[in-house]
Amino acid sequence: MKKVPEQLSYKKSVKVSVFSFLIISIIPFFDDADYDYFRKLRARYYSVFPTSVLYAANSVYAQYQIMDETKTERDQFKFNAKQSNSQKQIYVLVIGESDRRDHWSLYGYHRNTTPKMLQKENLIPFNNMNTAGYLTEFAVPIILTGIDPSNFLQHTKQKSIVSLFKEAGFETYWISNQTDFGHISIHAAESRNRYFFASDENRKTKNINDDSELLLPLNKVMNQPGNKKFIVIKLQGSHYDYAKRYPNNFDVFKPSNKTVPTSANDFKNKEIITNTYDNTVLYTDTILDSIINIINKQNVISSVFYISDHGEDLFDDERRLSQHAAEIPSKYIAPIPFTIWYSNQCKQNATYQIQQLNLNKGKKASSQHLFYTLAEMAEIQFQYFDSTKSLCSKAFIEKPRYIIGGNLKTFNSDSLK
Ligand SMILES: [Zn+2]
Repeated sequence: MKKVPEQLSYKKSVKVSVFSFLIISIIPFFDDADYDYFRKLRARYYSVFPTSVLYAANSVYAQYQIMDETKTERDQFKFNAKQSNSQKQIYVLVIGESDRRDHWSLYGYHRNTTPKMLQKENLIPFNNMNTAGYLTEFAVPIILTGIDPSNFLQHTKQKSIVSLFKEAGFETYWISNQTDFGHISIHAAESRNRYFFASDENRKTKNINDDSELLLPLNKVMNQPGNKKFIVIKLQGSHYDYAKRYPNNFDVFKPSNKTVPTSANDFKNKEIITNTYDNTVLYTDTILDSIINIINKQNVISSVFYISDHGEDLFDDERRLSQHAAEIPSKYIAPIPFTIWYSNQCKQNATYQIQQLNLNKGKKASSQHLFYTLAEMAEIQFQYFDSTKSLCSKAFIEKPRYIIGGNLKTFNSDSLK
């Protein structure tokens, strides 16, 4: 008679599975071949670790399939955009990270977190802007393409605001302190000039946490020839680990994680974690001020749009949520700061738009409206323009707002709890 092979006990098989999964998960960190899939997976890990490694692996694979299937349609897409102004112009879109509107003193926060934006001339703050996506990889493509969150994957079949400006005769630049993987990467690739500070190479040799590093390439862009420039800047902003995001001289709200290390989800240390978060907001205020000053010095028609990708949970209630990866988004995730600065030359050139922006600054707006608003501010005309979605227009209409999260689920962003 044949002997039946001994069966692995349940306990042992769980141990073997967990061990194997961990080994597979860490391979990308030791892989020197730098396969694109591993590179992207590493990027994904950096942004979600340690919240959901399994989700990361799965989502990177799924994203790759979608990007491949839609490539031809995306490549053939055209806005048929044009702009008739031949004067020197610079438009900048700064995308912030995990920046909450209610933690800005400009919007009434009790701490002085945005002293420079509070004093800025020619700055319009919008006080009712909600993000349409609460994870970076969904929020950013919506900002860049203006697509509806309930039809999110449509963005993979078309181009973004980068190509809109390119078609209208602008030189395009992408300056980023993030890895911009997956859904974001296809639109970053539309830029003719790209600078990724958080590259694998810089991770080994430089302090990739400091957003002030982005000012160097921005200054270089200013010295390059060209009459019309469009620049996207993606900040690391207020992404966890907060204490790493700002230099020591911005450690104003104390005690913070600079001197008292805590774990990210340590509810008992809510106060210390919030202090640290507020210091990141204070630092972003200075970074924004520096960007605006660099652009203003050019003395041309120019405008700087700032929008955060989404908010952040900071142990606000008994749910004790932190960061921004909850399965059901909280009401603290949706409201984001959105400001538009314009030069004096722009003020003379875009009188109608600026007048309308001031009239619309309290209206119920969504991050999907940025695309149309920026296009109209820059007087770019194109086939798919929809004035009901432009805050620069008299025709702007308030509509129900939606927010998309993990697994492409959408929620009404005005009824979040
Ligand atoms: Zn984000």
